[in-house]
Amino acid sequence: MTKQIFVTGGVVSSLGKGLTSASIGMLLEQRGLRVKMQKLDPYINVDPGTMSPYQHGEVYVLDDGSETDLDLGHYERFTHSPLTRDSNYTTGQIYLAVIEKERRGEFLGKTVQVIPHITNEIKAVIRKLADDRTDVVITEIGGTVGDIESQPFLEAIRQFALDAGPENCLYIHLTLVPYLKAAGELKTKPTQHSVGQLRQIGIQPDVLICRTERPISREDREKIALFCNVPLEAVIEERDKDFSIYEVPLSLVENRLDHLIVKQLGLSAEPLDLTDWHELMHRLRNPKHEISIAVVGKYAEHFDAYKSIYEALDHAGISHETQVRIGRVQSERIEEEGPERLLGGFDGVLVPGGFGERGIEGKIQAIHFARTRQIPFFGICLGMQCAAIEFGRNVVGLERANSTEFHKDTPHPVICLLDEQRNITDKGGTMRLGSQPADLDTMSRSFACYGTERIHERHRHRYEFNNLYRGQFAAHGMRVVGSSPDGKLAEILELRDHPWFVAVQFHPEFKSKPTARQPLFAGFVGAALVRHLSRGDAPTGESIALEAHAAEP
Ligand code: GLN
Repeated sequence: MTKQIFVTGGVVSSLGKGLTSASIGMLLEQRGLRVKMQKLDPYINVDPGTMSPYQHGEVYVLDDGSETDLDLGHYERFTHSPLTRDSNYTTGQIYLAVIEKERRGEFLGKTVQVIPHITNEIKAVIRKLADDRTDVVITEIGGTVGDIESQPFLEAIRQFALDAGPENCLYIHLTLVPYLKAAGELKTKPTQHSVGQLRQIGIQPDVLICRTERPISREDREKIALFCNVPLEAVIEERDKDFSIYEVPLSLVENRLDHLIVKQLGLSAEPLDLTDWHELMHRLRNPKHEISIAVVGKYAEHFDAYKSIYEALDHAGISHETQVRIGRVQSERIEEEGPERLLGGFDGVLVPGGFGERGIEGKIQAIHFARTRQIPFFGICLGMQCAAIEFGRNVVGLERANSTEFHKDTPHPVICLLDEQRNITDKGGTMRLGSQPADLDTMSRSFACYGTERIHERHRHRYEFNNLYRGQFAAHGMRVVGSSPDGKLAEILELRDHPWFVAVQFHPEFKSKPTARQPLFAGFVGAALVRHLSRGDAPTGESIALEAHAAEP
């Protein structure tokens, strides 16, 4: 029988429910259990694919091409849970499924209602993950208890214990225990209220995880236990981490959360072995070098928009015993202030993916700067497309080279829609998505990084490098060194005569883990380190405040 853990959140949003759920998954895996993870999101969009990264953070893409919430990135970085389109459902998807059934007449003329039809559909998607190869399914409910949108999900997980048996379900509620400066003390009331709301709808949480900036005294834990009707040992403190998100599982272990879960669900688990994770933390805490990378994007000011990129840079840094300081540079500022002022002094420049015209010229200027100053450059998706435009304009001599995404009638469409995509106008689900194979030229830098000819990486784009320009580009020093196996789609461009200039059409950041750095990110960070060491302590772009990639807010 697969056991079920439900993770809800209360008091405020942004408490790090995704990270906490991922950490729980990781701890259970370390105890030898087979875990699957899932997120249920209360918003009405059918998937986050059409949502602005500015509002919702990055869209995280899975192997199977589903466009999901960024919390699934945490799940993949922390656990081995196989993720598919069944790992992320939204209210929109649930309603869509129910309405389609209604149209097909499957409800035999009955009135279709939230209870039982919507809640049945929700329970069905939760049950879908249970099988005889899975010991525990962890389901995170997005949003905050008390939101109107999340009510059907909470009602469904309440009912779930009735169907599956209460001994097979565990409810974990993440809350905030704020410190009130004026009073000089921690406050437990918001937690009491939030649990009160859960109990009103029939859910008694089994475990409370309390986010706090200060240690919670035994007295306060006793108070929370009493008022919230949970045993004292089930009031778990999760102190804010200002160093790294990878500390979260360790702090949960200190509070014996793994032990509690195993006991309450009656699981037979192995003893915990966190040697690898401690080793990881040791490397993180004791870097031998420090480098700075400029990430030049449209949403540079927004931390979550390039989440996986920042993580992948960190992972590559760990493998080189190097702390990677990230300068988030907004591409439009480069258009106004010029690249020298904003990028001068960085050890590497990365241009990530994106959509739409805003900030494009700034990205192109940044790439020009990196190319001509011999600064290691990594272009990802739109970053690769901009690299092709820059090279086309400034080296090949195609003065008005552009992508047809930005200039439909450009005389030199170095990036364009290929035939398969041309007739598609609907924005949802029409892209080249998910894991695709590519074959590498063995004489390339990319091959040296991967050490293998056939790679598989995830995609999310519509436009492609225009093959008509392959010859001209190669003649000037920019070669296609990775292509789809049929040779039709350019996947990687590399520059000759440059220390490290690699631009890829796919998104390698989605497959990076703290314990398994992604090969191209490792190559890029390595090249930036070489540049750094060869330059000594040159000053870094003065107007950009460098920020260590520290823990979540
Ligand atoms: N806008 C570009 C395209 O659709 C790049 C997409 C991306 O960077 N993810 O091809």
